[in-house]
Amino acid sequence: MIGLKPRPKAPEFISPSVVVAFEACPAKAGFRLDPELATLRRTGPAAAVGCIAHEVLAAAGTGEPFGDVWSAAAERWYLRLAEEWAPATPPRPEQWQNWALTRERVRIQYEAVSAVVSATVLVTDDVRTAWREHEVSAGGKGVVLGKPVAQPGPLPWVERKIYDQQNGLMGIPDLVEDRDGSVVVVDHKTGLAKPIAGPEAKLQLRLYAAMVRTALGRAPVRLEIRDGAGDVTRVEGEPELIDDAVNRARAAREAIAAAGRGEHELVGLPDPGRCTGCPYRGVCRAYLEAPESDRALGRAFAFEVLEVAVEGPRHGVRASVMAPNDIAGETWITGFPFPDGVAVGSLWGAAGFELLRGHARGHWTTLLHPLG
Ligand code: SF4
Repeated sequence: MIGLKPRPKAPEFISPSVVVAFEACPAKAGFRLDPELATLRRTGPAAAVGCIAHEVLAAAGTGEPFGDVWSAAAERWYLRLAEEWAPATPPRPEQWQNWALTRERVRIQYEAVSAVVSATVLVTDDVRTAWREHEVSAGGKGVVLGKPVAQPGPLPWVERKIYDQQNGLMGIPDLVEDRDGSVVVVDHKTGLAKPIAGPEAKLQLRLYAAMVRTALGRAPVRLEIRDGAGDVTRVEGEPELIDDAVNRARAAREAIAAAGRGEHELVGLPDPGRCTGCPYRGVCRAYLEAPESDRALGRAFAFEVLEVAVEGPRHGVRASVMAPNDIAGETWITGFPFPDGVAVGSLWGAAGFELLRGHARGHWTTLLHPLG
């Protein structure tokens, strides 16, 4: 058997995105909270674009020219990615996916600063989700779970962090507003890929409602998902549904805590839809043992170093791929971010590289982690 099982640190607070991840693949939620795997949780270009968009929108109304604010934020995040991914050199932000589209959307919003609430509409789902996950991910460089801050002030709350000590929840609802004396929680969706109000979106919204209920001492009366065209889908928010969501979050938190104590196993549920883009697939035992049909697009494997042929920060290595079975065999590896002094006989997991006829070639987002 090769690969790791998650050993998460028990979270004091759990975010809706971790609950959703847990219900989709318990192992993925566990890996996200595993302190040993912190180096796999690096800021990717998608999260960086989201963070830049939010930083810039936060400066709207200050009188600073949009171009200056955008360029300064872009440079800051570029340097941060360069530091996180060293010795690899990330491409300049202009080459990141969704860069131009996001910049244009944010510019429009920045210049129409009066419509503050619609800021969350103009940023795409992908960008906002990447930003929000980045902000709440435990062990990341955003907010650290378990460190509550003061509750947000009077309504409306636009993308305010909420800590709910009563239920052990933490998250960032898009919008909480007072509409004629009633509290309304709104989630904005602009993407077309998923059903607007699928089970995950409903669970997430009900968890936000639970946090708002705790923070305000009264329950929201209306939960809404608004799409990019402004159409509203109402989500049922009866108290028993909110309580069910809280119970599911509690079950996730307890399972993760038990796994951290070594009393429970967080199983992996490999599936192409779930595993594609998962940063843990190079170390995930369930993924590495899965048949090809259950794995993701995008390469990942576990291997043993047979020979280190080149000295320096990015070695050339001859390796024996041990899993997945269908790509087992000898491979020459170049461009992987090995540390200096990598040892013959050491075991590694890697994800996100090109593999062709016995040669694996890494690029700047290749993730590498020791096994065993
Ligand atoms: S690689 Fe797949 S099975 Fe493993 S943690 Fe990620 S999503 Fe789950």
